[in-house]
Amino acid sequence: MKIARVAVDVPLNTYFDYSAEHLGSDDVGRRALVPFGRKLVVGVIIGIADQPENSSYTLKPIKEILRDTPRLPKEILKLAHFCSGYYHHPLGQVLAMILPQRLRRTKAARALAEPCYALTDTGRALSLDDLPQRAAVKRKLLAALQAQATLARSALLQLSPSAGSALRAMQQAGWLRESAMPLSATRSSTSLPGQAAAPELNADQQTAVDAILGAPPGFTPWLLHGVTGSGKTEVYLQVIAQTLARGGQALVLVPEINLTPQLEARFQARFPDASIVSLHSNLNDSERLKHWLLAQGTSSQGAAQIVLGTRLAVFTPCANLQLIIVDEEHDSSFKQQDGMRYSARDVAVFRAKDANVPIILGSATPALETYHNALHGRYRLLELKGRAVRDAAPPTVRYLDLRREKLLEGFSAPLITAIKQRMQRGEQSLLFINRRGFAPVLLCGECGWLSGCPRCTSRLVVHLKEQRLRCHHCGHEERIPRHCPSCGNLDLAPVGQGTQRLEAALQKLFPEARILRVDRDSTRRKNALSEMLEKVHAQEIDILVGTQMLAKGHDFPKLTLVGVLNADGGLYSADFRASEHLFAQLLQVAGRAGRAADSGEVLVQTAFPDHPLFAALQHGDYAQFAQTALTEREQAGLPPFSFQAMLRAEAATLDSALRFLRSAASLAPEAKNIQVYDPVPALMARLAGNERAQLLVEARSRGALQKFLGAWMEALQAHKTRNVRWALDVDPIDT
Ligand SMILES: [Zn+2]
Ligand SMILES: [Zn+2]
Repeated sequence: MKIARVAVDVPLNTYFDYSAEHLGSDDVGRRALVPFGRKLVVGVIIGIADQPENSSYTLKPIKEILRDTPRLPKEILKLAHFCSGYYHHPLGQVLAMILPQRLRRTKAARALAEPCYALTDTGRALSLDDLPQRAAVKRKLLAALQAQATLARSALLQLSPSAGSALRAMQQAGWLRESAMPLSATRSSTSLPGQAAAPELNADQQTAVDAILGAPPGFTPWLLHGVTGSGKTEVYLQVIAQTLARGGQALVLVPEINLTPQLEARFQARFPDASIVSLHSNLNDSERLKHWLLAQGTSSQGAAQIVLGTRLAVFTPCANLQLIIVDEEHDSSFKQQDGMRYSARDVAVFRAKDANVPIILGSATPALETYHNALHGRYRLLELKGRAVRDAAPPTVRYLDLRREKLLEGFSAPLITAIKQRMQRGEQSLLFINRRGFAPVLLCGECGWLSGCPRCTSRLVVHLKEQRLRCHHCGHEERIPRHCPSCGNLDLAPVGQGTQRLEAALQKLFPEARILRVDRDSTRRKNALSEMLEKVHAQEIDILVGTQMLAKGHDFPKLTLVGVLNADGGLYSADFRASEHLFAQLLQVAGRAGRAADSGEVLVQTAFPDHPLFAALQHGDYAQFAQTALTEREQAGLPPFSFQAMLRAEAATLDSALRFLRSAASLAPEAKNIQVYDPVPALMARLAGNERAQLLVEARSRGALQKFLGAWMEALQAHKTRNVRWALDVDPIDT
């Protein structure tokens, strides 16, 4: 009898012992069905022992070891242990998060996934001539299975309308068996990448590729800093080509699902013979499982060569990982905001180091933490200074002073003139505002009533077309009231601007223009975004109005004007990262102008044209912005010059959330060089009906912070709390 240590999906930072017969060392990393309380749950075997940890009670036996899928490899278990330790999150929950949904269910995956078929020994011994001519369907099936070792049921059913009964008959005859692997045949993964024409690199790109490929094998973290349009993707592609040629596998992380189909298509075009799988939240459970399994390959099938995915994909087991790329590494969507609050970028760096492979972090506006690492030699900096398209000059940036300009429907005269010129020249304009809906709030001019969300500390946004008020934080919705709920006044006015209002204003100003609005509301339908982008490319659109959705990754050669309306909110925010985000966003959206040969113009309407952030933006000078911002951070003792963790609490009343945090603070161990701040209400104190408060902890070194958090969390977990939900956020990005 052996003892299996099993990590179970419960909020307890420990494992549980079970007895098991026939337990081998290769069962570590496998899923196991175990009794837990009165239920059966799926856990992961993380170790094997001869003696139980605690011999005072009798161990329950493991119900079943699930061998239907490959076990989690050692390096993924190590990654889970690292995350559990660093983010102070229970190991069982980390592992549950890593496993695709289907593998967390108590039914074996084979019963849930689509069945696949393979020939038995008897079946393999058959030749087509052994079957009579009239058994045409069986002959077809046999031929197909001879050609391909394993085939999915759906693929076989397509061969003939009566394939179902033929399959049954062949199975009964003992020629076929159901194969456990739910992997349908994808592209052959044995061939080398194709040589689809790679464009010629410019000098900066060539230097970058040479540096990465010329570095000694093993872990090197690279920061590929390149302005928008400088051709970072081409650098990735050439490095990936080398990785594939050496038989390795590349893991590529991107911030947004919207970008994966585009990138997947580009990768597939470049590497037509390579097998590529994507992993993101738009996949259904069975696709996700299939792709996840393909990343590691099986005995019957080689692994995918390129794994492309969003945040969670950083945990994908890979058969032969030789390269990691994190594109747009500064993007906040790499940070998980609930459950285990991990940074996929940081986890990727750990993984690359552990796997001893290079990692490329790419961005036009690196996170200040990342840039700081590069300046201090912890990361190696590669810069792409010019635009990849020859002759493309960077856009000129001009500021329109809102204190002097008179606005017409939100537009200053120079901006209106500029749009007009573009229309006359048959070019396109993009107007950027980071707020969807018609107007951010409804106001009663009589008594000052504002449409507030009943469940959040936020305003209800006016959606005029739908005649609704909507909360963009919790989803609360109501009809636009006919009169003021507070004083009965009939004259309610939408205040401020959103994308819908801009669209309406543009229709008035330019009745002949073809206008397209791109925001989360207009792209809700599946494929809506890609259809819209098609229209822009086909030049069926003159003016684009949109949110940051438009800022990322899309190249429109005929777009020569970008207008930024109302970006001032980020200049003087309580969040110390707001200016960093604003700069990144503006530089990115400015980069949309003039990506082809036509040089572009960016017009920014602002009440603060002299702000230093705008001076840096004018020169497209990230380094200038970063130097200033880093100096400010250093003087204020903010990250990356300090290390933070945030204890967040949520309760029915603000008082109980704060009370919990105060008692948590009293449990904090004595520690030098650790600053425990007073609990405060969160920036958004009320969200979806819950009151939220937070407590910041700051340290001068990561090690000191980790040591403190370890002791603190242990004390806190032993502490009984009621009616409060709390979570620790290590390296928080919204404070
Ligand atoms: Zn009123
Ligand atoms: Zn709300």
